[in-house]
Amino acid sequence: MDLEVSIEKFTRISSAYKTRLKNLGILTMRDLLYHFPSRYQDFSSRTNIADLEVDKTACIQGAVESIKIIKIWKRHMIIIEAFVKDDTGKVKAVWFNQPYLASTFKKGAIVCLAGKLVDKKGAKYLSNPMYEKLRDQSDGEDDHTHTGRLVPIYPETAGVTSRWLRYIIKPLLKNCGEVADPLPENILASYEFIPWAQAVQQIHFPDSDKMASAARKRFAFEELFFIQLAVLRQRVRLRREKSLPVPLDANLIKKFVKSLPFKLTPAQRKTAYQILKDMEKPRPMNRLLQGDVGSGKTVVAMIAALNAAKAGLQTAIMVPTEILAQQHYASFTKTLAPFGIEIGLLCAKHCASSGYGATNKKTMAEFAKNGETQILIGTNALIQKGIEFKKLGLVVLDEQHRFGIDQRASLSKNNLAIRQNTPWPHLLSMTATPIPRTLALTVYGDLDLALIDQMPSGRKKIETKIILPNERTNAYEFIRKEIKNGRQAFVVCPRIDPEEGQTEIKRDGILFDPKADWSGANAVKAVKVEYEKLSKEIFPEMRVEMMHGRMKAAEKKEIMTKMKAGEIDVLVSTSVIEVGIDIPNASIMAIEGSHKFGLAQLHQFRGRVGRGEHQSYCLLFSDYPTRRLSAMLKFNSGFELAEKDLEIRGPGEVFGSAQWGAPDLAMSSLADVFLVEKSRAAAKGILQNDPDLSRHPQLAARITHFREHTHLE
Ligand code: ADP
Ligand code: MG
Repeated sequence: MDLEVSIEKFTRISSAYKTRLKNLGILTMRDLLYHFPSRYQDFSSRTNIADLEVDKTACIQGAVESIKIIKIWKRHMIIIEAFVKDDTGKVKAVWFNQPYLASTFKKGAIVCLAGKLVDKKGAKYLSNPMYEKLRDQSDGEDDHTHTGRLVPIYPETAGVTSRWLRYIIKPLLKNCGEVADPLPENILASYEFIPWAQAVQQIHFPDSDKMASAARKRFAFEELFFIQLAVLRQRVRLRREKSLPVPLDANLIKKFVKSLPFKLTPAQRKTAYQILKDMEKPRPMNRLLQGDVGSGKTVVAMIAALNAAKAGLQTAIMVPTEILAQQHYASFTKTLAPFGIEIGLLCAKHCASSGYGATNKKTMAEFAKNGETQILIGTNALIQKGIEFKKLGLVVLDEQHRFGIDQRASLSKNNLAIRQNTPWPHLLSMTATPIPRTLALTVYGDLDLALIDQMPSGRKKIETKIILPNERTNAYEFIRKEIKNGRQAFVVCPRIDPEEGQTEIKRDGILFDPKADWSGANAVKAVKVEYEKLSKEIFPEMRVEMMHGRMKAAEKKEIMTKMKAGEIDVLVSTSVIEVGIDIPNASIMAIEGSHKFGLAQLHQFRGRVGRGEHQSYCLLFSDYPTRRLSAMLKFNSGFELAEKDLEIRGPGEVFGSAQWGAPDLAMSSLADVFLVEKSRAAAKGILQNDPDLSRHPQLAARITHFREHTHLE
């Protein structure tokens, strides 16, 4: 049995099903066998027909006594009605619109049925039961697949039913004994995991609950183990790469810190020092700087970039949005100007240089290449073709969690450097998203972590309040008062979702197309509606403006400039405002439809205010209170909120595989710290004696496969 064989070669699968499987990402035998059930339905015990009870699900076995097809022409319906008999009695079973069953169940056939007995006005029957024709009973054991056992239920997907998957997967399991176990024997033995062939059998068709969980545990370990192995080996490799060492210029840093309008927090000092120390080494730094929203990560990156620039090396800073790029460009220019550093901005539409003012992409590309630009800030325009650096020493990735997996991967492969065949640049990633320890150990296992675990002093706690519909008027009055006192407000709108089954959505007389793309068109419409309402009805005397992702870059820039200059009182926007915006005079963050946002996003929004000396407020407009919103009232730190989120939504949702691109089972087992640590220890044990896995060719091959199919850092 070859696990790599393509499903194209499977004769039992029709080409229509092959296409459906491909859409699920199932391309090979391995993919199919590793498509695990999400749960099991317990039909393992048999009930005598005489003992069936109304409204209870049960499984019976007996002989078909009679079967007939009833056609109801008016309702275009076909009903199959069968009587099944065992030693204790007989029962009727009814199926709707499955005419082929008439030929499956011939009179006298032995069948197993699992379902619920219903009572419709005295007529009792099994309604649409799961069914299975059994082979000749005389040869002993029956081979149950869909009934009469723990029945696997697979993740629901269009066009591929659990029944079909059981039908396809079951026969494959017979040959699994031929496959070599991918886990080394000593690991299997020391953790007492069941062998691969048995585990595959038991995860799909378990003999008992106990065996099902033993199998799941083994595969969770296996997936974690390969992630660990891949990540740790990557770390070993990275350690061997060469980078340009950047000497730490202590006098320069002292001078810079003195020039700041505030005193660095001890956490900022500590992390900046860690980073500068990393960069002194001739091998690439790979560090993740984690600190809550507003903890002051930017200035830490500035220190690293300044030190690199003075050592003659360039820095590239990549951010997820154009607005943020412009904001960084402005603050870098202002803060580093006294140090004579040449700073550039490179976005799709906007390019500028601190020495020459507004310019174009071509010129910026030239400045990067000839080394004139010392710090280049931009969006993903930075990693596009044609951008080369003369001597790139440092790459900074801000709001790292906002980048797509592919973008992160392409940066981590350091395309920038590889293209130029120069030493690897040092890599500094920054994020406000707290990373649970287990995730840090696995997915981020090859990063060093630096933590800013305290806020600049003097920050006032942001007052957070849930605003229910009857408090709306008061809330508007409150905002008005704040603005009269010279403050500014943000109003964030979510996209507008349709109710279930609704074909059109009307709000304030405007029609929304429920089929339109939610993140785009409808979010923009929502903002326009809110803008009309606030500017005309609620705050007609104020300066209200709007901003959304579909606006031209120049328009967005102008709005942000006006907001910074205090020329806007209320800014209505989509979630484009979420990331990194810094307006110290803004004291109000009002979030419409706040129950529609996740905790991490709400926390990001809230972090947009409370950055100056003013008491700030976060108003969570909602139709009703929710657990998530209460968590926002109770907790202030991103870390506490992340833990709460984990509790409310569960690890499967929070570490959704879509986000990390790693296997589901591994992601959901991240909650199991113990298992994660075991897998890490096992991977370390192997790499210690065989860092290149040259003595473990099978493991090496498996990691390569794994790397191709998942995208880790
Ligand atoms: P984040 O960590 O969310 O990226 P920023 O770097 O944008 O936060 O900093 C938020 C705000 O706090 C900025 O206005 C910055 O100038 C200010 N700031 C940074 N460090 C300090 C400090 N030590 N004391 C006071 N204000 C600070
Ligand atoms: Mg930031």
